[in-house]
Amino acid sequence: MKPEFIKSKKGNQLIFMAGYKYYTKKIRKTGDAVRKRWQCSTNSARGCKASITTIDDVIVSLNICHNHEPIPKKTGIKIKKKYL
Ligand SMILES: [Zn+2]
Repeated sequence: MKPEFIKSKKGNQLIFMAGYKYYTKKIRKTGDAVRKRWQCSTNSARGCKASITTIDDVIVSLNICHNHEPIPKKTGIKIKKKYL
């Protein structure tokens, strides 16, 4: 499973992975490392608790127990990071 970093129409960064989108819920800086907590983007609408944790955009923790079907891959503009 490879995550893709995309941008929403509003310009927010999202992760798209395996048919699910995640938005940044929390950003915490520890020294030079940026730790982000990503929440499933349909979380608020359907109560999905799936989430991802990244440090410097590398996934370190995954909880991908979604309570809904994946979305078709059409929304958002793809911006691939060079080091991914
Ligand atoms: Zn979900």
